[in-house]
Amino acid sequence: MNYIYLDNNASTMIDPKVFDKMSPYLKDHYGNPNSTHYFGEMTHEGLNVASDQFYKYLNIGEEDTFVVTSCATESINTVHKSILFDFLNSKNKNKSKNKIITTSFEHPASAKSLEYLKNFGIEIIELPIKNDSISIDDFKEVFNSEEILLVSLIYAHNETGVILPIKDLAKIIHNSDVPIHIDATQAIGKIDVDVQDLNIDFLSCSAHKIHGPKGVGGLYIKQNRIITPLLHGGTQMGGFRAGTLNTAGIIGFGEALELAAESLNFFNTEILSLRQHLEEFLLTLPDSTIHGYSSDRIANTIFVTTPTIDSDYMVWYLNKNNISISSGSACSSQQLKKTTQKTPGVRFSLSRFTTKSEIDKTIECIKKLL
Ligand code: PLP
Repeated sequence: MNYIYLDNNASTMIDPKVFDKMSPYLKDHYGNPNSTHYFGEMTHEGLNVASDQFYKYLNIGEEDTFVVTSCATESINTVHKSILFDFLNSKNKNKSKNKIITTSFEHPASAKSLEYLKNFGIEIIELPIKNDSISIDDFKEVFNSEEILLVSLIYAHNETGVILPIKDLAKIIHNSDVPIHIDATQAIGKIDVDVQDLNIDFLSCSAHKIHGPKGVGGLYIKQNRIITPLLHGGTQMGGFRAGTLNTAGIIGFGEALELAAESLNFFNTEILSLRQHLEEFLLTLPDSTIHGYSSDRIANTIFVTTPTIDSDYMVWYLNKNNISISSGSACSSQQLKKTTQKTPGVRFSLSRFTTKSEIDKTIECIKKLL
């Protein structure tokens, strides 16, 4: 039975090349990298290669730090909780610097983490969503460096694929000392993410969205920015995160990042044209809307509302026909909130392994729903 997988923003297949790189570290090179004997040393070459891959493909500076975590959720929480610890320790008794700017369409990994900080007196300012993105003017209106502890923004949206103008925002923010954190989980490996060019302070990401293994995430920390670890213990990861290294996972993540970087051009031409082919068809459905259609968007993502076809039914029907897509869980715009359907729309997310024939079969299947 052939299955068609169009839910790559949820998770991806491990690239067989990634699996091959990981496999010796799951079977033979099982030593603890901190051990000084043969088995410990056998892990070092692979870990060094992975480290080089992280620094090269995210353009991390020599003085900066890249911490491997267990997932993007952990990375995001590490940044937010670190800001909280600083705030609680602050000598500033009236605590007037107590605000974090974010958007109203963050992934729960960020939204819920920020929500928790409210319990300690931190105020969360959510930028409104306009035309499936945020407005620089709205940002300028609320940005006051005397009051802001952190700016924490999603980079590419998981439902719509819309890319936020991070570089422009960073320019405004860095006239002050306020740090900026971006959740780049849906951006790395899909667009060129260069931390120095973006001029950000923290970046969170994850391996399993780019054909790497689950259970591995990354946290970029710019030089001179201090993080209080979530996990205290050993001296792994330069003291930023204790715990025995996930050797195979780290090696898999590095390889996944390199393979994604090598296929970036293919992804942004061939996969983009498959997405456009599917979009052309979806726009022929009565009253359908593709969210973020004319915005800067990652090449693999379509979020469509189809008022004449119930979105849950579409997901169910395609699944019956061996095609996996997802129903939109996030209300990414006011427009979506206005729809009367239980779930406002459906998301198709392609990968570099998606083929034209898979997209054609998907189109034929949806036609039967009309
Ligand atoms: N941020 C975004 C934008 C995501 O899409 C996801 C996963 O769907 C996450 C964070 C959480 O990633 P992880 O599963 O690695 O914790």
